[in-house]
Amino acid sequence: MLKEIVAGVVLGLIAGLLWLGYNVFPFVFALGLLFFLYKTFESRGGIKQFAPLNVHDSKAGTGIGFSDIGGQNSAKRELLEALDFIREPEKINLMGIRPLKGILLVGPPGTGKTLLAKAAASHTNSAFISAAGSEFIEMYAGVGAQRVRQIFEQAKSGARKKTKKSAIIFIDEIDILGASRGRGSTSHLEHEQTLNQLLVEMDGLSLDGKICILLIGATNRPDLLDDALLRPGRFDRIVQVELPDFEGRLQILKLHTRNKPLAEDVQLRKVAADTFGFSGAHLESLANEAAIAALREKSKFIHKKHFCESLDKVIMGEKLDRRPGKDECRRIAIHEIGHALISEHFRPGSVSTVTIIPRGKAMGYIRQTPAEDSYIYTKDYLEGQIAVLLGGAISEEELLGNRSTGAANDFQQAVELAKKIIKSGMSSLGIVSLKDLPGDTLHRGLQEILEGQEKKVRDIIKKYKGLVKEAAGCLVETERIGGKYLRSLLGTEKKDEFKKEAI
Ligand code: ATP
Repeated sequence: MLKEIVAGVVLGLIAGLLWLGYNVFPFVFALGLLFFLYKTFESRGGIKQFAPLNVHDSKAGTGIGFSDIGGQNSAKRELLEALDFIREPEKINLMGIRPLKGILLVGPPGTGKTLLAKAAASHTNSAFISAAGSEFIEMYAGVGAQRVRQIFEQAKSGARKKTKKSAIIFIDEIDILGASRGRGSTSHLEHEQTLNQLLVEMDGLSLDGKICILLIGATNRPDLLDDALLRPGRFDRIVQVELPDFEGRLQILKLHTRNKPLAEDVQLRKVAADTFGFSGAHLESLANEAAIAALREKSKFIHKKHFCESLDKVIMGEKLDRRPGKDECRRIAIHEIGHALISEHFRPGSVSTVTIIPRGKAMGYIRQTPAEDSYIYTKDYLEGQIAVLLGGAISEEELLGNRSTGAANDFQQAVELAKKIIKSGMSSLGIVSLKDLPGDTLHRGLQEILEGQEKKVRDIIKKYKGLVKEAAGCLVETERIGGKYLRSLLGTEKKDEFKKEAI
């Protein structure tokens, strides 16, 4: 509309000047030049680059409470303690306590840091405003600093408008904005100015007595943060938000399936046991994918098999259309059954699925059920895992006469596990520093561990060669077999050496 008005005024002006008998050429030329310069600037994104910060202001409250967050009990406890400072400012003043300015949530992606910040805003009845660290980063000096000022001002005005006494500013990926000076990838000057502005704003927080503002930052790389941000008086509390344990996973699964029709064969405890190492985001995706799988099958309820399929999808990625040829299929099946046999040998009942359906980067894979949540590992366990990794290649060698490139990734992982054994002082080299170890000594140490396991695995595969062949044939036909059926195929339940837990 504005453009049309301006164009009309300009045309009218030119017509008027022409009527009065003036030479309009210099005027038209100057206008054309200005128009050209404006368009060039716009096409280079000049105007967009200086656009205001894209903050996410939650107008109707965050709608998330602490009861919507599964697990994370210690993080919740620490956060709730810190939030008392906002909820009861009178008590804090009476005791002469300096108000809390910042809380840093540290943990892996998808563990619920954003949810915790939102729940903190609901709990304290605060205005909530959020932005990502990357939104403050620009190549033009001064823009980042201006955006930092802007978010603090918006938090104050937002709280005033909603007649709230406090506001919570949440900055995700704060490491991008608060990385140590001299480390940022953007222009040095711009990065310093942005970080300095953040420090200035945090220092100024206590001066604004009417509205209490709390900054919550989230990162999974606290080591990158500038020391000035971490000193007391800035981020006063550092709250660890870890991957959920068994009970945490169970609670998260319950939360994300409460609105879904689960069939009777679904045992959430079993799903929680199978998902060691999953974050809350993984578990949410798992429940969602299971519901999608059920919908695709036109099933009224979500069954156990839908969860099994979704587990594979969340771990390995989407199914691929490409299918290997007949010979390659057989080789992959022999490889996977090799892994599965060794896994059953070292930890009976440990295989939950074997498949040769290509997903993500894998042509086939086995999924093992974790025995129970474990955070430290014994030498026996690590050696057992190395043996499972070597099982695929050795099975190919014993049944097909040679190995293939399909085992390269297994070997890489086996070497990493062997290094872990050496690093933890559990090898014949004794207690050593991995990085100071001469190359050939390290090589010898690794060889000793890997060759020891290779020999054990070869003996087992040789002994059960016929069964491996039979199970691989079955896998080629069905493309996927469950742990129970695999154990019946291999007859492992009846064999003594597969009965006792070796790890
Ligand atoms: P990032 O570090 O990648 O920003 P984050 O730690 O902030 O991730 P969130 O954004 O809070 O993770 O979580 C992503 C999604 O995962 C949530 O919307 C929720 O569905 C689910 N989720 C994560 N943790 C939990 C939890 N503890 N309880 C319930 N749901 C969770």
